[in-house]
Amino acid sequence: MQHSHDHGHHHHHGEGQTENRLWISIGLNFVITLAEFIGGIISGSLSLLSDALHNLNDTTSLGISLAARKISKKDANKDKTFGYQRAEIIGAFINLITLVIIALFLVKEGVERFYNPQPINGTVMFTVAIIGLLGNVITAVLLFRSSEENINIRSAYIHIMSDAFSSVGVIVASLLILYYQLYIIDTILTMVIAGYILWQSYYMLRETINILMASTPANIEVPDVKKAMTDVTGVHDIHHLHVWRLDEQNILLESHVVIDENDMDKMESIKSKLKTLLGTDFNIHHSTLEFEFKPCEKYGENPCH
Ligand SMILES: [Zn+2]
Ligand SMILES: [Zn+2]
Ligand SMILES: [Zn+2]
Repeated sequence: MQHSHDHGHHHHHGEGQTENRLWISIGLNFVITLAEFIGGIISGSLSLLSDALHNLNDTTSLGISLAARKISKKDANKDKTFGYQRAEIIGAFINLITLVIIALFLVKEGVERFYNPQPINGTVMFTVAIIGLLGNVITAVLLFRSSEENINIRSAYIHIMSDAFSSVGVIVASLLILYYQLYIIDTILTMVIAGYILWQSYYMLRETINILMASTPANIEVPDVKKAMTDVTGVHDIHHLHVWRLDEQNILLESHVVIDENDMDKMESIKSKLKTLLGTDFNIHHSTLEFEFKPCEKYGENPCH
């Protein structure tokens, strides 16, 4: 029997390093949060306070990423036969939802400041924004190397880049406030930052929801898979075909395969051909194939499982 798979095992190189980087990022984010919170109170800048809140959220988000990494490494067991990989997806989902809430909070703050502008101490704002930028840049560099690895690290990275971008914005705004008392720039900046975060979150949220909804991966066309499988010699029909992702890396497939009753002795070789095809052409390494001699009744309208 061809049955080679590896549920729940993902040993990447430098995994411990990634974890160390996450820990350092959490520490740095906490320091930024504290600095911005104190700076926000001293300067009277609401934008610094809401940025502090944002960075506090970053600290907890990174904590979720770290916890998700640890949980998803656990092996599959009798209660969780798929393993724990989806823990990371759920972690990313919570991350993004929290981010959207914070971004909407920033929009609300911005709208209020349009009607009720507050005087701001530009010097304190400038100093704290510089500290924030340094912290964000160090964090971004630390996470950069593992940015392709998964949604969580990537979302954390994109996130921190947007933080650095907003820190630069706050520096520019603080200078405009220092020299021109241009308080409105603070409100405009808040809107730009929040808009950017919402725009980024939309795409990443869509991706995590697609995985949780067991959607077909974007790079796979089910009709193509069906055609390629049907083209294998001896296969009469393919139906009840499902393709979904366990996490970002692992694609799963299940299908009914109709063969001729006279080809019963060729079943193993047909199955082997199908599995090879799925692995090489579609990068699907875990499939469950149910063989039939005639299609189960009216599968078109009412698929039998
Ligand atoms: Zn299996
Ligand atoms: Zn952030
Ligand atoms: Zn069937």
